[in-house]
Amino acid sequence: MVKVKSSWRKIWRCIDCSKEVWYGSTRCKSCVAKERTQVGLWKGEDVGYTGLHHWLRRNKVKVDLCENCNLKPPHDLANISGKYKRDINDFKWLCRRCHMIEDGRLEKLRALGKLNTRLKVVA
Ligand SMILES: [Zn+2]
Ligand SMILES: [Zn+2]
Repeated sequence: MVKVKSSWRKIWRCIDCSKEVWYGSTRCKSCVAKERTQVGLWKGEDVGYTGLHHWLRRNKVKVDLCENCNLKPPHDLANISGKYKRDINDFKWLCRRCHMIEDGRLEKLRALGKLNTRLKVVA
């Protein structure tokens, strides 16, 4: 007697670790949990501008003087590329005045749709 392969049921496998999973599921429980924490971490911290700023304040060392003019104490962190990447090198401390100038410049570039490459801001 030939053993019939149970081909009636497609075996679902976890897309991450290829462990067999419940019919219709894409990921096994542990991978779902893993992904959830990853997404959670990102989403939790990446709720926008404020979340990113908190992260930056923790990770980017504050300097004594504005990194643009070196004259005034920095007021806030400014994003260099305009993309708000989670990269401390994409941010710099600016005094209020320089930040305002920079924001204006970024707005203009955004409006022109030219801001696709890393922007090098020359003081
Ligand atoms: Zn898995
Ligand atoms: Zn400045």
